[in-house]
Amino acid sequence: MDRDVYYNKSGCYDPTAGEAISNTSKNMRVFYTTRKWRRCRNGFMANRYFVCERCGGVATIAHHKKPITAENISNPDITLNWDNLEAVCYGCHSAIHGGGGAVFAGVTFDEDGNLKYSPPHRD
Ligand SMILES: [Zn+2]
Ligand SMILES: [Zn+2]
Repeated sequence: MDRDVYYNKSGCYDPTAGEAISNTSKNMRVFYTTRKWRRCRNGFMANRYFVCERCGGVATIAHHKKPITAENISNPDITLNWDNLEAVCYGCHSAIHGGGGAVFAGVTFDEDGNLKYSPPHRD
């Protein structure tokens, strides 16, 4: 229920942090739909033969080893750099991101590697 509520380091509700997080997840969702990301991802996954680098299963997701953040989302050395990508299957990707597989608050992928719809943010 307080999924959309964010707390700062001292445990107090921090509306600014919430806003920053929701802006970043919005930008990330947009990034994952851009042509340059899709081309980068498709080329990379084909280069890895769609084989999961962790378990040898069928890879559907290009995982960012150095995670995308608000600071680096416009830096192609992070977002579009093959050196920063790892071809992984849905199961391994979920494990990397701690069960749910969310790469960021509100940004999740399905088993085919497509962005999962999540309900609009309640503000
Ligand atoms: Zn795997
Ligand atoms: Zn990932």
